[in-house]
Amino acid sequence: MPSATMNAQVRAVWTSEEGSMAKQTAETRWAKIIQGTIDDIGETAAADDVDGQKRAESIAIQIALKAIKKRIEQNKPLTPLPDDGKLDIQDWNKQLAAIGECSWINCPWLFGECYMYRSIQRILNSSKHWQNYDVFKRQKDSTFVKSRAAVEELASRYMQIVADTRLAQNESKEDAKKLLFIEMTEIALWGNATDLSLLANLTLEDLQKLQGREAIKKSQRNIVDNDIDDVWAYLQRTAGQASRQIDIVLDNAGFEFFTDVLYAAYLLEAGISTSVRLHTKEFPWFVSDVIPSDVESLFEHLDSSECFPGREYLDQVIPRLRKFFQSGAITTTSDPFWTTPFSFHEMPSEAPALFKELQHSYLVIFKGDLNYRKLTRDGMWPHITTYEKALGPLGKESDVKILALRTNKSDVCVGVPTQSKVDALNEEAPGGAWIRNGKYAVVSFNEGR
Ligand SMILES: [Mg+2]
Repeated sequence: MPSATMNAQVRAVWTSEEGSMAKQTAETRWAKIIQGTIDDIGETAAADDVDGQKRAESIAIQIALKAIKKRIEQNKPLTPLPDDGKLDIQDWNKQLAAIGECSWINCPWLFGECYMYRSIQRILNSSKHWQNYDVFKRQKDSTFVKSRAAVEELASRYMQIVADTRLAQNESKEDAKKLLFIEMTEIALWGNATDLSLLANLTLEDLQKLQGREAIKKSQRNIVDNDIDDVWAYLQRTAGQASRQIDIVLDNAGFEFFTDVLYAAYLLEAGISTSVRLHTKEFPWFVSDVIPSDVESLFEHLDSSECFPGREYLDQVIPRLRKFFQSGAITTTSDPFWTTPFSFHEMPSEAPALFKELQHSYLVIFKGDLNYRKLTRDGMWPHITTYEKALGPLGKESDVKILALRTNKSDVCVGVPTQSKVDALNEEAPGGAWIRNGKYAVVSFNEGR
């Protein structure tokens, strides 16, 4: 579909938009993120065992990063990215040309933010000793270790859920099976926030009582578009299909990735899927996104009793997870499309092979805020726009079964059932807080029919 048609449908949010999260992010966060990479490289280069050439090169990298930071602070124009030997550079520059004149604080938010991470990577790609260096690893690791209590608690909860799922299966308790599915889905949803206090945490016995259902209902209160019943109905209706590969397009490393791997394992244990494919990013992206090296890093951390001293349940959970990776039931993959500035409306034309793969997938789960922005073209849709409509070419008749699990942290949110619900949310969390503060979420599903 030509992008002109799409532009007519919805306007993407720009970083110049007064009162937007876009503007706030561009003005206050971006320069800090770049400073973080400068400090990180400085710290790594200062270590005793660093090779002299590598250390010397770190100075040039830091100077180049400082130049980007300065351009952001001075709201300079976005300029074409110099060649770094990678094939995607042309696409970036083509898209920049299509946008026309723009600057850091006056550009489409989605493009500008992606462009910043690609600019950092361009500098590293152009180096000799820092090409595969992860400028955000230090930050990802330290955040993960801080979520110790939640990791240990979740390991215990997971073992309980697996046992309950078995029991519910043996006794054909359909309601209980559904409620366990909802709980695991919510863990994957709110895993984005580390704070699991919104979860119900119920026993199988509780689940079958009214108060159990009430607790689940309460935990779903802040989900402003909730299609979980439709997802469950779809899974029930299609359970007889021989191949049921679920794709999860990941968001963040560390605790959230742990919840995603547990979710994948649960989907296999419960017989909902026959295999799960996890999609990572090819290079460091939006600070905390999972890149291939974060997969082994997850297990290194989980194995460490220094990071996670409460071993009782972790020592039961880890071998189960490893087994799924070793048998190939869970695999990881990355596609260059995930680290482009394109929204997913452009997937059929820009990444046709990937689009076809997703059409063949049993269910594609998109995690987190950035994936949601890309699904909805980062558009300023009225909030009661249907999710199907906002998905554009990935919506109606796309043949892609898409579930978005996203805590709201930006300017876009669609699928709110009614205007009176929007009004109520605006009253409850004024100034767009319910779209931005991470305390509200969507569980949005579309079958692509
Ligand atoms: Mg992220």
